[in-house]
Amino acid sequence: MPMQHHPSPIYDEKWVGEELARDDTHRYVWIWMGSNIRLIALSLGPDGAWSYDHGWCYRRDMELVTKAVTEWDPDTQDEPMGWHKRPTHPVRRAPRRHENPDYNRARCEHGSYFLDSGCRVLNCRDVREHEDRAHAKGIA
Ligand SMILES: [Zn+2]
Repeated sequence: MPMQHHPSPIYDEKWVGEELARDDTHRYVWIWMGSNIRLIALSLGPDGAWSYDHGWCYRRDMELVTKAVTEWDPDTQDEPMGWHKRPTHPVRRAPRRHENPDYNRARCEHGSYFLDSGCRVLNCRDVREHEDRAHAKGIA
């Protein structure tokens, strides 16, 4: 089943947020997180009652979050767009990610395609680790 978007968000009492969409495996709910909005992927299985599998932080802009979910195809796209921080591990992998290799290039924890364009965040851990690995290969 492809992503089903709700005509209007469904209030979620437990998570104190709103469910924007769901697919075969997850519900996609936004919640307030301090000064940010966090989009969370809650498993439809028993684990989903207690914790979420994936999360992406957005600035406090509902339009941004709604647009990101609307445009996202979780079947072929690992992660949505428009977030500035990924607080969860491991990175989500779409079940049919091979169909969209360009979209699914590696992204750092700040959402940048850092292998192409780096990251705007100074001292990004993912950039640093990549450079360390490249350096280690270079001198091996
Ligand atoms: Zn980064």
